[in-house]
Amino acid sequence: MNLLATDHVLETPALDVAGIRAQFPILERQVHGRPLIYFDNAATSQTPLCVIDTFRDYYGRFNANIHRGLHTLADEATAAYEGSRETVRAFLNAADRREIIFTRGTTEAINLVANSWGRANLEPGDEVLVSLLEHHSNIVPWQLLADQLGIVVKVIPVDERGVLDLDAYCTLFTERTRLVAVNHVSNAFGTINPVREMSTIAHDHDARILIDGAQATPHQAVDVRGIDADFYAFSGHKVYGPTGAGVLYGKAELLEAMPPWQGGGEMIKSVSFDVPTTFADIPHKFEAGTPAIAEVIALGVALDWVSGVGLARIGVWEAELLARATAGVSRIDGLRLLGTAPDKAGVLSFVVDGAHSQDIALLIDQLGVAIRTGNHCAQPLLARFGVDATCRASFAVYNTLEEVDSFVDALERVVGMVR
Ligand code: PMP
Repeated sequence: MNLLATDHVLETPALDVAGIRAQFPILERQVHGRPLIYFDNAATSQTPLCVIDTFRDYYGRFNANIHRGLHTLADEATAAYEGSRETVRAFLNAADRREIIFTRGTTEAINLVANSWGRANLEPGDEVLVSLLEHHSNIVPWQLLADQLGIVVKVIPVDERGVLDLDAYCTLFTERTRLVAVNHVSNAFGTINPVREMSTIAHDHDARILIDGAQATPHQAVDVRGIDADFYAFSGHKVYGPTGAGVLYGKAELLEAMPPWQGGGEMIKSVSFDVPTTFADIPHKFEAGTPAIAEVIALGVALDWVSGVGLARIGVWEAELLARATAGVSRIDGLRLLGTAPDKAGVLSFVVDGAHSQDIALLIDQLGVAIRTGNHCAQPLLARFGVDATCRASFAVYNTLEEVDSFVDALERVVGMVR
């Protein structure tokens, strides 16, 4: 954790969790007659009122297609959409807003890199390193390229705690290694990867690095220039924003040299049947068709909201929630935690001897607690640990210590029922 950020937190007033909760109407819901305890934040976080209100405002006041209109509504919609690009630039500390491409989410951002940069730069026998901690969205696009282009996908292993083996990482490089594709934070185990160090090592080997930041952006400040990331991807719906809007950051010189991956309106300079069609400059070259305008604007509002609360403070609070939950569930007989990295985000993955994860999730839902069960789109990782599913509780800024205690009590009851 960034010590400077922590010091700063200690000097600033504590997080007003009650005040934050009041901004999330969904948290007032009852589920099966009990107050909702929402611990599925790694899948999708909830949205504050300011984000929800953005949709009403947009559709009620300035809904119009962007970039090509010469009327007031189109100007307002374009300004708000492009304003969101500037918000994302600042959020990631990117140098230039042209380096921010809006996508549907992390999955689409990674597929953009695979299909544009990958097809233009990779040849048969070239190697892409991914880690065993990856979400399927950072595995399958590279496997597709392996089938289609003959590239080789190599896997960085993890130790018993779910920590990446950096010595093994270093030994995987050859003169054919072109790209490292790794997540910043693991969705299944919460492991925080040393992406700064990994980026330096990748660049020392003349390889590029793509970082999947889907699980990092909600929990810690990200500085793409500090990391020296070549590409960085994240999804709005995991960072208090809406579904349907996400981001690919790419260094300008890389994006400029990459071919478009989808053709259509908005991404061209001129189209002709007689002379070659020419393409728009970045970022528009990669944003074919009408984008998710309201969602992108709402994503900007969400990021402003997160920055207003303060990512350093959010990180400290979530660490407290995680510590309390870890201590609580560790007392439950037969429960085994998966992912015990010393550097972890607010994710608690576990299995219980003699009990199906699905039964636990279904029964605990009856007590109002929403957790996730399954393979978390990380089948190779779970296979390494000899399981095909875990239960996963994941925390957000609006969760409370009381909720953690209620969850531990509920889990104890459920485990008692199913074992
Ligand atoms: N990577 C990670 C680490 C994730 O947690 C997720 C979502 N679970 C994704 C990628 C995919 O994100 P999306 O479905 O929003 O494209």
